[in-house]
Amino acid sequence: MKLIIVIDPGHGGSDLGAVGPTGLYESHVAWKIACMVADILMRYGIKIIFTRVGDVRVSLDKRIEIANSSKADYFVSIHINSANNPKTTKSKKIRLGESLS
Ligand SMILES: [Zn+2]
Repeated sequence: MKLIIVIDPGHGGSDLGAVGPTGLYESHVAWKIACMVADILMRYGIKIIFTRVGDVRVSLDKRIEIANSSKADYFVSIHINSANNPKTTKSKKIRLGESLS
């Protein structure tokens, strides 16, 4: 049975997410990362379902509906924080549910 992963690129459309010090939008970076991750995972035969395609706004309710109706094995939501200090090295990972290891 084929593994199914829902990839949720955070934000989109009028919801820009975090804005970096150079004006980079979280929503644009999240979409790019989502595409790169999907490209890699599809090489391993994994079925990918996106909660949004391109720079469009999708409500949280719709994202949940997509995730639940897909019967996916995993749901990965991609977000990127911003920092005004370029020396910032910390990252935040939030994992809910079963361990991935
Ligand atoms: Zn975010």
